[in-house]
Amino acid sequence: MTTIEDTAPAPVSDESYQGPLLEVRDLHVEFHTRDGVARAVNGVNYSVSAGETLAVLGESGSGKSVTAQAVMGILDMPPAKIPRGEILFRGQDMLRMSAEERRKIRGRRIAMIFQDALSSLNPVLSVGYQLGEMFRIHLGLSKKEAKARAIELMDRVKIPGAAARVNDYPHQFSGGMRQRIMIAMALALEPDLIIADEPTTALDVTVQAQVMDLLADLQREYNMGLILITHDLGVVADVADKIAVMYAGRIVETAPVHELYKRPAHPYTRGLLDSIPRLDQKGQELYAIKGLPPNLLRTPAGCAFNPRCPKAEDICRTDVPPLHPVTEPDGAELPGRGSACHFWKETIRG
Ligand code: ADP
Ligand code: MG
Repeated sequence: MTTIEDTAPAPVSDESYQGPLLEVRDLHVEFHTRDGVARAVNGVNYSVSAGETLAVLGESGSGKSVTAQAVMGILDMPPAKIPRGEILFRGQDMLRMSAEERRKIRGRRIAMIFQDALSSLNPVLSVGYQLGEMFRIHLGLSKKEAKARAIELMDRVKIPGAAARVNDYPHQFSGGMRQRIMIAMALALEPDLIIADEPTTALDVTVQAQVMDLLADLQREYNMGLILITHDLGVVADVADKIAVMYAGRIVETAPVHELYKRPAHPYTRGLLDSIPRLDQKGQELYAIKGLPPNLLRTPAGCAFNPRCPKAEDICRTDVPPLHPVTEPDGAELPGRGSACHFWKETIRG
């Protein structure tokens, strides 16, 4: 389907713009269901700059995908509603743009990669055709030129024998290779930002690392911003610059990646870290955070994590903790660090 908007050039970039590529501010998303209102995203703030990788981490149901879908503009509204918030792309709020302006950004300057390549690719079209389609529709290239570019892209994402495989169908590729094809699709128009939602979750552990490394290499090469959504702290350690941990629709901790591993400042993050399998603990039973994330129709009062928290006290059952700036004991600033725990000081000291 080609529309005039699709073929129009991307907006002229304002070269003087210096801020982050994407900034989500106080974003709220709710779902109006028969059983009530589910507040899936509750005042989320995050930002990502060119050349930077933000990992968004949290158990299933914490609002990671809904936030990303709001950014991409692919939420079904209704049932979803965005009662508050801003989604700034290069300083301009996409929630308040015309549909036409938005279309020029989404898909072209922001691309998304999903967990399940098999359901994102069309099973009856060759991968070369689907990759080439990006170039034919958006750049107006001929069939032949588009195919050449498709092969180039398949090479780029290290699919062996790209020229020989360009006419193969999605099911003829392994899961890892299919995910590389999804990465190629996302890269095709050289976006400024890629949002990858659990891009390796469906893959075997060894393949996960290869695909993650590829994504990280390409991100550096193209100086893109990357938002990496995952429930698995283990896979992002080597590739992310900073992490935002989500729980029940809120960001409960933010930190540069190495700081978060070394000194978590929220009991939930600590629990996630303790749940990562470690080679030096073979045979021992793996720690798991007790209980389950809350039903968002009935989020507990106070800190949503309190029923599962080993450190919860009375205040945790009544007052929602704001995201406190996390500092050194002497008050020295720790840039980029925040914790939504009443007892972040005690937590960071272990
Ligand atoms: P995750 O962190 O696993 O990506 P999601 O962002 O997909 O979580 O979902 C967060 C919550 O939003 C879900 O637990 C659910 O309560 C709610 N939600 C998501 N999509 C819908 C929908 N279409 N209708 C109602 N509620 C939804
Ligand atoms: Mg998700």
